[in-house]
Amino acid sequence: VCGFSVDDASPTRVLEGFLKDHYTWPFGVGGDGVWYRVEPEVHQVWDQVSRQESSLAARFLADRVQGWRVPGVGVAHRVLTIAIRDGKPEIRGWLVERSGALPVPTQIVQESTDFSDDLAPGWPIRDLSSELIAVVGTGSIGSHACESLVEYGVHRLALVDPDRLLPGNLVRHKSGRKWLGRFKVDVVSDLLLDRFPHLELDPMPFSVVDQADMMRALFAQSAVVLCCSDGVESRLVTSHLARQSGTATVLASVLGDGEFGEVIRLRSAPSVGCLDCQRTRMRDAGEMDPEPGIDLPYGSGSRHRHMTAVGGDLELVGALAAKVSAATILEERGFADQRLAGDHAFIALRPRPGWAFPFDLTRAGEIRWLPSRPPVDGCPTCTSR
Ligand SMILES: [Zn+2]
Repeated sequence: VCGFSVDDASPTRVLEGFLKDHYTWPFGVGGDGVWYRVEPEVHQVWDQVSRQESSLAARFLADRVQGWRVPGVGVAHRVLTIAIRDGKPEIRGWLVERSGALPVPTQIVQESTDFSDDLAPGWPIRDLSSELIAVVGTGSIGSHACESLVEYGVHRLALVDPDRLLPGNLVRHKSGRKWLGRFKVDVVSDLLLDRFPHLELDPMPFSVVDQADMMRALFAQSAVVLCCSDGVESRLVTSHLARQSGTATVLASVLGDGEFGEVIRLRSAPSVGCLDCQRTRMRDAGEMDPEPGIDLPYGSGSRHRHMTAVGGDLELVGALAAKVSAATILEERGFADQRLAGDHAFIALRPRPGWAFPFDLTRAGEIRWLPSRPPVDGCPTCTSR
């Protein structure tokens, strides 16, 4: 309904909000209709006739409403009947010709654009909607992670990434060709707002390395910092700055040629080392340290390595990182069912034999969880707080 009038007064247009973008709008206004107030018994009859996939004589309605308007010959009126049941308006639709009335389905759409309250009470939406999450890196993993975070009920995101969308990104990113050349943070922001207009988003087209002061302030306000950047430098700087802010950090990446995904959660606790400490502990234990491999300069000397993982696998890793981020907030608030199986997840995407522990997974879809490791003595990041 995009406009209405009462009796013969001039019409009031209500073409607002999502109606302007609705898929039917390019076809224009479909025609006039009529609305009537009725007693609830009319709707009981509607329910019965609709169940029988049948129709009624138009006289049934004409006898029960005031000011019945008879459709012209060969003309079908859209009719809405409104009854008050238990104090609430209830609407039914009809297609009415001279002789007969056919029940047609109707839906009432709320003006609010935020449907996330519908998730309550089954999901603790209010514990997530007020929290700010900073997402560093809005490429292929980050763009998927952002959408998952919003689906978990997060309403406030700060998006940090200095890169622009390039043709090579399209096969893995959530966005389309019309956004080529635009900052990824602006693209992801617009994509999210299109589906979830209620979000509070802060797109920041900056490097976490070059804008450390700005990041310090941002991280201090954030409940979680989620880093989906694939550069070693930005991962280490994110871990360092978030540790100094006392904010939990989640780092997501894909290793090798898309063989494994890795999600690391660094809680803000004295017993948990920073990213650098996690890697040092792994090396000291004779385990595989993937961090140097994340940033291999492929020919051009670019800071980013050539990404070879497939979009679905990146989405999987992004979604798991979003789950870990949301669970971190919820666990802290006492939701025991959001305790994770560990802090460090290794995900087999296309496992290849020959990788050392903890990457020695053999079946696609396998996830190994390990606990986080303590700080290394003398680590400047872990001791300077
Ligand atoms: Zn450390």
